[in-house]
Amino acid sequence: MLKNTFYFFVFISTFLWNNISAQDSSYTAYNSYLIGKVKSWDCPYFKTFDEGGRSFYLHTKAYKALMEMKVAAKKDGIDLTLKSAGRSFYYQKQIWEKKFDRCIANETDSLECVKQILKYSAMPGTSRHHWGTEIDLNNLNFEYFESGYGKKVKIWLDNNANTFGFCQVYDNQSYSHRLGYNYEPWHYSYTPVSKQLLLDFNKRIDYTHITGFSGDKYAQELEIIKKFVNGIGFICHP
Ligand SMILES: [Zn+2]
Repeated sequence: MLKNTFYFFVFISTFLWNNISAQDSSYTAYNSYLIGKVKSWDCPYFKTFDEGGRSFYLHTKAYKALMEMKVAAKKDGIDLTLKSAGRSFYYQKQIWEKKFDRCIANETDSLECVKQILKYSAMPGTSRHHWGTEIDLNNLNFEYFESGYGKKVKIWLDNNANTFGFCQVYDNQSYSHRLGYNYEPWHYSYTPVSKQLLLDFNKRIDYTHITGFSGDKYAQELEIIKKFVNGIGFICHP
């Protein structure tokens, strides 16, 4: 009985969320999801799981695709390990403000600090990690992917990630001429979900939503939505 009640609750909440997403922008729950202002355990899109003793969450569809990709990689002798997956606005704010506080201790120009942090880290509210469709794999230093085992991992991902629906979001800017974050060989996106989310983000989110953290006043001036949220590799574009 209890189990049935639980499934009924999951069904109803999933139904509501899916319908909210298709509705008018006055339904703010979907907007909150787009900017990461949801709790992972409250959002029916997300699945929480453990890997290597750590807890992660992902969009259920991205999770399934990742598990399939990991099995295939393993057969080829490649271990894909998660460094990061879904992240909320609140978690991103911690990352951002830790970097901001460290910078501002030695730098009087807060705009300069914001520009420094933006090389690799997103302003809270604008990270694709909020959507649960993004994964950071194996290592967060690009040197790792340039030789030895890391290079093998990169070659495997270049050849196979796309088959599982994943694209490399922040590719080498010298090839793609995109704006925004520096090259991140570790960051992949599950495009069957994230392409639609980017379209929705562009339609529904504006600078009035991107507030509530140190340096937020520069979001518009730095054209964060145009240059960073949309500064992605060609194959990840909707
Ligand atoms: Zn990432």
